Amino acid sequence: MRFDIVTIFPGFFDGIFAHGVLKRAIQGELLSVAVHDLREFTHDRHRTVDDRPFGGGEGMVLKPEPLAEAVEHLRLAPRAERAAHGETVILLSAQGRRFTQAMARKLAQASRVVLLCGRYEGVDERVTELIADQELSIGDYVLSGGELGAAVVLDTTMRLLPGVLGNEASSEYESFGAADDLLPRKAGGLNSTHGAGGLLDYPHYTRPAEFRGLTVPEVLSSGNHEQIRKWRREQALRKTLLNRPDLLQNAELSAEDRTFLRALEPHLEGAQSKDSV
Ligand code: SAH
Repeated sequence: MRFDIVTIFPGFFDGIFAHGVLKRAIQGELLSVAVHDLREFTHDRHRTVDDRPFGGGEGMVLKPEPLAEAVEHLRLAPRAERAAHGETVILLSAQGRRFTQAMARKLAQASRVVLLCGRYEGVDERVTELIADQELSIGDYVLSGGELGAAVVLDTTMRLLPGVLGNEASSEYESFGAADDLLPRKAGGLNSTHGAGGLLDYPHYTRPAEFRGLTVPEVLSSGNHEQIRKWRREQALRKTLLNRPDLLQNAELSAEDRTFLRALEPHLEGAQSKDSV
C-alpha cells in the first residue's frame, strides 16, 4: 500500500515515521509513504499556495492550482476510475464525513491513498468538487492544519494491513472491532475474548498483581477461560455504557448482554460527571 501526503509542512511528518509500528511497517516494505511539498507545485517566485477569500472575511485560503498539480503529478487513474483501481484522494477537512474504524477497515483495502492537508481557513472548494474523492474529518473539533488528520488516518489504516501488527488478532479484539462471528476461529476452540462487536475494549492489567492497594481482578488469574471471557465482555459493556453509550445503539448485543446492561444502568447514575473535562 502506498500513501502520498501533500502538505506545506513536509518536515511535520519526520518524527511520525521514525517510531514504533509505522517505522517497522515502512522498513519491512509493508507500506510506503511519500511526502510532497505543496510549494513544489507553484510557479511564482514566492511559491504562493494561498490567497484571500472571495467574499471577504478572515484569513487565507489554499489555492486550487497547486493541489491539482500535486495530484496530477501522482499519476493516478482518472477520477471516475480511481475506486476501481483501489485509489482514493482524501481531503482532510473539518467539514468532512467523520473518520471511523469502519472507514479505516475499508481504506485498508485500497492500494493507494493520497492525503491532502489544508491550512489557514481551509481549501478552495473546487478541490472538493474536482480533485478529491472524499472529504474526511477526524473528529468534531478544528485543527490548525490537515497534517495531524493525515497522520491519524495513515496510522489507523496501516496498522490494519496484513502483517503490520505482530499478532494478527490484536486489531480485531480491540475497541470498535468486529463481532465474534465475523472473526476467524482460532484452532483449538474459544478465542481468548469476544470480538468487540462495536464496543469499547475491556480493561487490561499486567504485573504487579497489587499496585498501590489495588489488586488485579481475581478472575484474570483463575485460568478459567470461559469466566475470563465473560468478565471481559461485561467490562467492555460497562465501559461502553459509561463512556460511549451512543455506541451501544449499533453494537451487536446478545440477550445476556442486554440483561447485564439493564442491571447496570441504575448503578451508573453519577458515576462520571458530565461536566468533567
Ligand atoms: N474554516 C475551517 C477550518 C480550517 S482549519 C472550518 O471551520 O471548517 C485548517 C485545515 O485544518 C483544514 O483545511 C483541514 O485540512 C484541517 N482540519 C481542521 N480540522 C480538521 C478535522 N477535524 N479533521 C481533519 N482535518 C481538519
